[in-house]
Amino acid sequence: MSGPKLTDVLRACFEDERQRERIARALLARPREERGLLQDRIDFSIVRLIVEHPETDGTEQALELAATDWRDLLMAAGHEQPDAHARWAAEVVAHPPRVVILDRVLPMQLDREGWGTCPHCGYRFKLKSSSWNGTQHVRCAGRIRALHSRER
Ligand SMILES: [Zn+2]
Repeated sequence: MSGPKLTDVLRACFEDERQRERIARALLARPREERGLLQDRIDFSIVRLIVEHPETDGTEQALELAATDWRDLLMAAGHEQPDAHARWAAEVVAHPPRVVILDRVLPMQLDREGWGTCPHCGYRFKLKSSSWNGTQHVRCAGRIRALHSRER
């Protein structure tokens, strides 16, 4: 019997496809010197830390912790026991939490016409339009602090 795969876990954990893909890319970009069972333990631990703290996108911190000391990472995720990550994965696949990570507020520089490039998704949009709801870029739900350009 084989347990859930990383893609199953990501689908169960995150509602937003864009966030799922971003996290999957970040995990795949990690050096793969530790493969096999340990790789799942590390990947699932990173995902668990992210999904249990959706109010702050902890992806970078979790990846940093994994790179610095994977034993600390397993501890932080509560995955010290060799099969703890597999039991957690089976649990989230059975009862998907489907969280949405709240994006951090990122600055966006506006040009003099009021256009800016979204720091979350890279699309250009005009602040005075239906693309903006006052705090978020509607397309990606990324939270933004708009920096107005100085009049010349
Ligand atoms: Zn955006």
